[in-house]
Amino acid sequence: MYSTKYVKAKDIDDAATIMASAEDGKFLAGGMTLIPTLKQRLANPDCLIDLSACGLSAIDDDGGAIRIGAMTHHVEVAESALVQKAIPAVADLAGHIGDRQVRNCGTIGGSLANNDPAACYPAALLALGGTVHTQNRSITAEDYFDGMFETTLEESEIIREVSLPKPEKAAYVKFPNPASRYAMVGVFVAKFADGVRVAVTGAGEDGVFRASDLEGALDANFGADAIADGAVSADGLMSDIHASAEYRAHLIGEMTRRAVTACN
Ligand SMILES: Cc1cc2nc3c(=O)[nH]c(=O)nc-3n(C[C@H](O)[C@H](O)[C@H](O)COP(=O)(O)OP(=O)(O)OC[C@H]3O[C@@H](n4cnc5c(N)ncnc54)[C@H](O)[C@@H]3O)c2cc1C
Repeated sequence: MYSTKYVKAKDIDDAATIMASAEDGKFLAGGMTLIPTLKQRLANPDCLIDLSACGLSAIDDDGGAIRIGAMTHHVEVAESALVQKAIPAVADLAGHIGDRQVRNCGTIGGSLANNDPAACYPAALLALGGTVHTQNRSITAEDYFDGMFETTLEESEIIREVSLPKPEKAAYVKFPNPASRYAMVGVFVAKFADGVRVAVTGAGEDGVFRASDLEGALDANFGADAIADGAVSADGLMSDIHASAEYRAHLIGEMTRRAVTACN
């Protein structure tokens, strides 16, 4: 046993102040990843700072983008009429995360702060060219991800909200691990007036990445037939107990074709 202090922060400034005074503090969202990590003794923070009373769970439409508060649960994103209308692919993504319990407790901020290499939201943020807003600054998706389970967030930085630009068309298709529903491969395709963006999760050795070859092919022809068999190289892809790099490469091509078909 080890002792840990639990504090419910009143607002984001309070959370930052508590973090500054802790020796090894951790922000707590829904606890879907953090609590199992504590149980397995992979982390033993002296202070858990609960963000649930910080008022970070609104969903707004600012015209060009949807803004989602960090503490918004997956089920709230999935069921939001606003998200369903503006970026239905994001509502659909949220509605297929894990199981009912995970969707009720897990949050968009926790998911993006954790940056699990098989998580779904990182693909949406990167493909949509979104921005992570903290109490101090705004970080573009390109500057946010920093390898598996790593981001450019500082220790004391709190995600306040995430903004996701509205595309002309978008779809997310994943090949889920049958046990966890995490992505063995997940592909988010977003078509904007100035081009197509494709982000892949579940497959890269360094976590989520943009597939520039696929983007080029889809810029030229936004149809499933633009992605030839064998179009995706296995270089830089993960091999693990779930799938080889070659199988993941095949899945990326197939999930991309399905996502483009869903867009059209
Ligand atoms: C069985 C299972 C299946 C899952 N399946 C999927 C899936 O299919 N797809 C998918 O994408 N995800 C999946 N997940 C992950 C899930 O969606 C959660 O979002 C993820 O586990 C993070 O949980 P949380 O939001 O409760 O954050 P927590 O576990 O509370 O926190 C996670 C980390 O983020 C930090 N953090 C949390 N909020 C903030 C913030 N606002 N600012 C800064 N740091 C913060 C915490 O300090 C901690 O380090 C699954 C999880 C489980 C347990």
